[in-house]
Amino acid sequence: MSNHLFDAIRLALRPAAVFILGADGRSWTYGDMLAQSGRFASTLEMLGVRPGDRVAVQVEKSPEALMLYLACIRVGAIYLPLNTAYTLAELDYFIGDAEPRLVVCTPGARAGMEGIAASHGAHVETLDEAGGGSLAELARDEAADFLDAERGPDDLAAILYTSGTTGRSKGAMLTHDNLLSNAVTLRDHWRFSANDRLIHALPIFHTHGLFVASNVVLLSGASMYFLPKFDADEALRLMKTATVMMGVPTFYVRLTQHEGLTREAAAHMRLFISGSAPLLAETHRKFEAMTGHAILERYGMTETNMNTSNPYDGDRIAGTVGFPLPGVSIRVTDPETGVPVADGETGMIEVKGPNVFKGYWRMPEKTAAEFRADGFFITGDLGKIDERGYVHIVGRGKDLVISGGYNIYPKEVETEIDQMPGVIETAVIGVAHPDFGEGVTAVVVRKPGAAIDERVILDGLKDRLARYKQPKRVIFVDELPRNTMGKVQKNVLRDTYADLYAAAASGE
Ligand code: ATP
Ligand code: MG
Repeated sequence: MSNHLFDAIRLALRPAAVFILGADGRSWTYGDMLAQSGRFASTLEMLGVRPGDRVAVQVEKSPEALMLYLACIRVGAIYLPLNTAYTLAELDYFIGDAEPRLVVCTPGARAGMEGIAASHGAHVETLDEAGGGSLAELARDEAADFLDAERGPDDLAAILYTSGTTGRSKGAMLTHDNLLSNAVTLRDHWRFSANDRLIHALPIFHTHGLFVASNVVLLSGASMYFLPKFDADEALRLMKTATVMMGVPTFYVRLTQHEGLTREAAAHMRLFISGSAPLLAETHRKFEAMTGHAILERYGMTETNMNTSNPYDGDRIAGTVGFPLPGVSIRVTDPETGVPVADGETGMIEVKGPNVFKGYWRMPEKTAAEFRADGFFITGDLGKIDERGYVHIVGRGKDLVISGGYNIYPKEVETEIDQMPGVIETAVIGVAHPDFGEGVTAVVVRKPGAAIDERVILDGLKDRLARYKQPKRVIFVDELPRNTMGKVQKNVLRDTYADLYAAAASGE
């Protein structure tokens, strides 16, 4: 019998070694992980879960939740984590779409979940963040040893819904080998070993915390501090005994705002990694000045796992996401024609490699539309590759603004405004405009009490940007709308300001 992903995890495993150190003082060795995932796997089997069945999981982050993921891999089920922020209406959509055999939720959500699950023929059990709940109760009496189900490299291991930054989330079908090959590549690229201890403060319903962080730790036999959420004080305390942190840019912004972040505080750490959203060059520089560590930025997505990484040895360049990972091919094409652009030009980023998913769950047309005939996946991200081979992401295809027939890359305008004194951050969007098709519109968060207004920003941009790139309007807000991964939701902004120029045109 062989189970492609879990066999590799077994191979790296030393039973007595520490795997997880929980925030509440509980800890798990690798032997404990094997036993608990075995008990959960037996329980899933007893509940009728068979290879290929989906198991949907919406629970708070806990070591047991991670072991439930591993149990799904071991029974050959398809693990389907759901964002804890989803509402009942959203859950109804996802559960109807995925048709899981079993749904695992928190005890508090059971009543609502049962209503949804019943209408889609699924059974419900519960798990709480302290490791209790009905599933844990059932598992207590099950044997710890479990014969892993046969699963090959191309069998599905998970369906992961995308973050929904640009519209409704899509279920990405990921195979055993998509996950294993990418985690092995990252482990080797980032030099993970059994001596490493990771600060893990990311959610585990998303590719970053679940696959990048957890699988890399599992495949190197390393340990991790497993925190329910990020807290700068706590991260600083743990840095004294940890070696690596993986985070989203917001974590690094908060650390650089903390006076406790010093060279000494970060002296035990060997690596800081950032991804899921663009890291501002300013944060990169500030962090390096305060700690001596250059943050390593990488780029990936739910559909492709990780695509690129800045080098471990060598220059980690702010504002870039580094080089394609070994085995991953990246090309940049004209978004309209699909023809590769000239070297250094901006276009659509396309990716091919063992990391790339099998397709969107139950969306064959969408899947077909996002793949080229030669197997490259069209990421939807715009970017370029510079003369040294570093990949730069300039934004999303859907965020491209077309005004008066010109293409405007929001990031270029955002970077200019972000550099102005008194500005914290900016999101540039296109809003329907009667004369230009779309009007470039800047939504800006300013520092409290800053003497900056629309006029100052527009005047400041006059000599810095071509006229067609200059915003038609600047709007000030207290904060930008973000989803749980810290990504700015430009579709929310576009909806909010949809009538901005229509009102002006009608003379209001
Ligand atoms: P949806 O596809 O549902 O709109 P999403 O694309 O945000 O949501 P994810 O798969 O979680 O869902 O995010 C992947 C995207 O995050 C990438 O396509 C890219 O736009 C962005 N991203 C990830 N890492 C980086 C990075 N280092 N720099 C810039 N953007 C990044
Ligand atoms: Mg996406």
